[in-house]
Amino acid sequence: MSLETFRKETRDWLEANCPPGMRVPAKGEADICWGGRNWTFASDDQRIWLERMAERGWTVPTWPKEYGGGGLTKEEGFVLKEEMKAMKARSPLDSFGIWMLGPALLKYGSEEQKREHLPKIARGEIRWCQGYSEPGAGSDLASLRTKGVLDGDEYVINGQKVWTSYADKSDWIFALVRTEADAPKHLGISFILIDMDTPGVSTKPIKLISGKSPFCETFFDDARAPVSNVVGKPGQGWDIAKYLLSHERAGIVSDAVSGGLNPVGAAHLAGEVDEKGRIADPILRGDVARLTIDALAFEATLRRVKDEADKGEGVGAKASILKYVGTELNKRRHELNMSALGSDGLLWEGEKEEDGEAARSWLRSRANSIEGGTSEIQLNIVAKRVLELPGT
Ligand SMILES: Cc1cc2nc3c(=O)[nH]c(=O)nc-3n(C[C@H](O)[C@H](O)[C@H](O)COP(=O)(O)OP(=O)(O)OC[C@H]3O[C@@H](n4cnc5c(N)ncnc54)[C@H](O)[C@@H]3O)c2cc1C
Repeated sequence: MSLETFRKETRDWLEANCPPGMRVPAKGEADICWGGRNWTFASDDQRIWLERMAERGWTVPTWPKEYGGGGLTKEEGFVLKEEMKAMKARSPLDSFGIWMLGPALLKYGSEEQKREHLPKIARGEIRWCQGYSEPGAGSDLASLRTKGVLDGDEYVINGQKVWTSYADKSDWIFALVRTEADAPKHLGISFILIDMDTPGVSTKPIKLISGKSPFCETFFDDARAPVSNVVGKPGQGWDIAKYLLSHERAGIVSDAVSGGLNPVGAAHLAGEVDEKGRIADPILRGDVARLTIDALAFEATLRRVKDEADKGEGVGAKASILKYVGTELNKRRHELNMSALGSDGLLWEGEKEEDGEAARSWLRSRANSIEGGTSEIQLNIVAKRVLELPGT
């Protein structure tokens, strides 16, 4: 089928199947569908949209059909994205399973692991969280101490993770565990899939200044996981962790410059648009123009890197450039939203669900340059692995 025919059929299908409630921008966190065993849909439209898209494999359009995907080519996947954007259709499902674990399983997972986990991710049935960071292992991730000791065909796992986003709402965790105590730092780590219902796994929310709590501490006390839950080979976890991180980093920025409220929308909300349809304040107008140009250039670069990656071995260390630039752009976007909104931007809570969203998103954007590896670490990686500069 030609790409043009595919585009037309896709548009027709989306037109007929995307419920009206899913064609308006999300009002906030509650409008984003994460799926999982404990998920309660925010509306019938949200449920119907997920069901219809999952049925077609379009929650993960370019994954192979046998694993719940749509089997689309990269170009078709891009057309689908464009057509969804054109009708303002929301993503039917956001998840760490889609952005991070899925790509890692597709590359390193056994056939059994793929068949077991990927379709459930695609249908939004199982929600995953990421067990990487520990109290003494953030940027220096390979210092992690959570350990797994072999007992028959199971690992007995003990230790603690921290900053595990949504651990209290997730069904499974992909965790890095030190399984070979005497091996060199990077070589004794395994990548293990663990059901959060396993006895000995517990979570405790970490309260933030906003009063909200997406983060948790996660504890493993003699928790058992079968050896068959190790992805790749025991001790190969570092390679898988790095591969997954390159997807996490690329994922963090993929909607950095286009998702949610933008400064032009914010200026409209604040009544800051003049009779010619321009942002009235010339300084703000200049800042918005510069951001828009930078965002377009960034999107073009993002696409180029992805195209190159599809021809070769993944995004690799270039994900660090994208993460650094993309998260800085995202922070600028939210700063500008706040400038455009003026004192309205200071609203924190109100009668409507979306009240205060601009301020909360602005604060949240600041975490972009920490999560998935801090900006300083990205710059180190760029210096070392992209520019091949000598170490200090
Ligand atoms: C919103 C958010 C969500 C997160 N979600 C998860 C999650 O779901 N699962 C998970 O496992 N983790 C998660 N994290 C944790 C995140 O990955 C870590 O916070 C991050 O890797 C930094 O580690 P750290 O907090 O220990 O800081 P540290 O490593 O202690 O760093 C502190 C400061 O020192 C700098 N620094 C450290 N080493 C160097 C160096 N060699 N050169 C230059 N500067 C350096 C850092 O850049 C930083 O500014 C999340 C974090 C955030 C903010």
